[in-house]
Amino acid sequence: MGRKCSVVGCHSTVGLHYFPQDLDFRRQWLRVIGLGESCELPPYAGVCKKHFTRDSFANLMEFELGFAKKLLLKSEAVPTLGLPQLRKELPALLPSQPGDFGRQSEVSEQNND
Ligand SMILES: [Zn+2]
Repeated sequence: MGRKCSVVGCHSTVGLHYFPQDLDFRRQWLRVIGLGESCELPPYAGVCKKHFTRDSFANLMEFELGFAKKLLLKSEAVPTLGLPQLRKELPALLPSQPGDFGRQSEVSEQNND
């Protein structure tokens, strides 16, 4: 039984960090990794370290120097790297297709899947 990164499109099984216990914060993670806020996660679900910036870790220095066996995430860290493209992040600058003119892509903060 291996754990696997919960980020959509990522299949990493190493360097996983558990989801936060705090529900709101957990929803935020779910949203940014492309699963949707209401997604049910198995208790062992995690997100691999690839999705966190270096300053998301509380002890990166110690870890890299070999003093710490395990990387610790800061309590406020949110995955930001290597994430699936979220619809809400599509820039309005993209040249619109002629046929698409006037078509609004309505995107809300709600999970509307
Ligand atoms: Zn991952």
